[in-house]
Amino acid sequence: MTDLQAEHRMLIDGKLVEAASGRTFANVNPATEEVIGQVADGGVEEMEQAVSAARRAFDDTDWSTNRELRARCLQQLKDGLDRHREDLRPQIVAEVGTPIALTYAIQLDSCIDDIQYDIDMIEAYVWERDLPVNEFMGTTSARKVFHEAVGVCGAITPWNFPFMLNLSKIGPALAAGNTVILKPAPDTPWSATAIAKIAAEETDLPPGVLNIVTAGDKAEVGEVLTGDRRVDMVSFTGSSTTGRRIMARGADTLKRVFLELGGKSANIVLDDADFAAVVPTGSMTCMHAGQGCAITTRMLLPASRYDEGVELLEAAFSAFPYGDPTDLSNMMGPLINERQRERVLDYIEKGKAEGARLLVGGGRPEQFPKGYFVEPTLFVDVDPDATIAQEEIFGPVLAVLRYEDDDDAVRIANNSTYGLSGSVASASLDRAMSIARRIRTGTVSVNGGQWFGPDSPFGGYKDSGIGREHGLEGFEEYLETKTIGLPVEA
Ligand code: NAD
Repeated sequence: MTDLQAEHRMLIDGKLVEAASGRTFANVNPATEEVIGQVADGGVEEMEQAVSAARRAFDDTDWSTNRELRARCLQQLKDGLDRHREDLRPQIVAEVGTPIALTYAIQLDSCIDDIQYDIDMIEAYVWERDLPVNEFMGTTSARKVFHEAVGVCGAITPWNFPFMLNLSKIGPALAAGNTVILKPAPDTPWSATAIAKIAAEETDLPPGVLNIVTAGDKAEVGEVLTGDRRVDMVSFTGSSTTGRRIMARGADTLKRVFLELGGKSANIVLDDADFAAVVPTGSMTCMHAGQGCAITTRMLLPASRYDEGVELLEAAFSAFPYGDPTDLSNMMGPLINERQRERVLDYIEKGKAEGARLLVGGGRPEQFPKGYFVEPTLFVDVDPDATIAQEEIFGPVLAVLRYEDDDDAVRIANNSTYGLSGSVASASLDRAMSIARRIRTGTVSVNGGQWFGPDSPFGGYKDSGIGREHGLEGFEEYLETKTIGLPVEA
């Protein structure tokens, strides 16, 4: 084990600390069910200390105005993470159960590289601008618009892409001049404590600017962030249920909230598409065991070519490579914990009970007696209003729905409380684009195009959230706007 790995301490006010109670909680490898380490079990007391430190660092230091310092610290953080890239890789696989292949992209490598976007933004962003001279109530005025940090930002993250999501909040929040308190998910603490250790030991980040508080499964610790007046903003990624709770609790102190929530995205295959090339990719629903909010979990096939599509999907699901997440050839490992596995198996039972036809999978794989695995699962003939077509399962389960024509496909795609992502495939780019524009979601892939990138705004319509992460829009989530009027001599 290297010096960086298995860091069990939190970062509060510039120091790596244990919980005052001395308590720890277990970090479990979901592929083996083995305890791989212990982590400090922070409580309300530690979270309040972190809030005090972040408040003081924002109010009493020049962090929010010193762009040169911010760029330097973020560069040091990026360089530190880069140096430890190969220490982080096995650790992320061990605690997340993600296929190692994904660490060469979104689970690790691109997250480190993408910090550059936040660093560049400090220089490139238009922090102030002049408006035209204005005549109002007898006064001729010049007007200046300034963008300033929101203040103290609470960041709350889930376990599915923990390292990426931690950095997706820390990066822009710090670049914009905020101070941050991160509360990571209890299932994946090392993806946060590794950042804590590098921040403490390899950067000039002033004490209190970045705090990371780990806690076992106790909502009360995260709720300090949503209820404390000293916290100006909460940036949350996770379930829509928790998102609602965060918004409701934040109402008392009128917190700014950014919410990136669940999804039930539609993959629409039009009747003129190249079925052999497009339809089998529907099995990518099972990538990382379906634990991704933007994964397309409903596939819409045209009635005229429905049977052909189902046959292709059956073959793709039956051959989907899964198992040991450390094996580079696997695209799917286990679910994160036993609770999630039971939740997914319950949905599969509901699917059957409501009349969908189970074609592949549907249970626990016999070949993996250890680990929270569920088989790649394919349901066809799913009613658009069925539970498995409406609710976010967060497991390796695809629901296949039949549609009559393009209007029907759009209607079914939009028949969802969610609106996060989607995809459209057609031989005609115009036809695909016209459907992409009619789907009420924050991102769409057309003919296999990838929308993801550090400069691509990502987020949801409807119950999928409020606000955008990444890109200019994501950066501006962490900014306030101030307008100053000053008289102009005639
Ligand atoms: P969750 O939304 O409950 O937890 C996400 C984070 O919020 C964790 O850090 C958790 O400790 C924290 N949290 C929970 N309750 C809180 C509260 N009241 N105040 C402040 N923080 C709180 O997600 P979960 O229970 O880990 O997973 C349940 C379901 O959520 C999944 O099955 C899936 O459908 C969905 N999910 C969605 C995403 C996503 O990216 N959209 C990610 C993970 C899970």
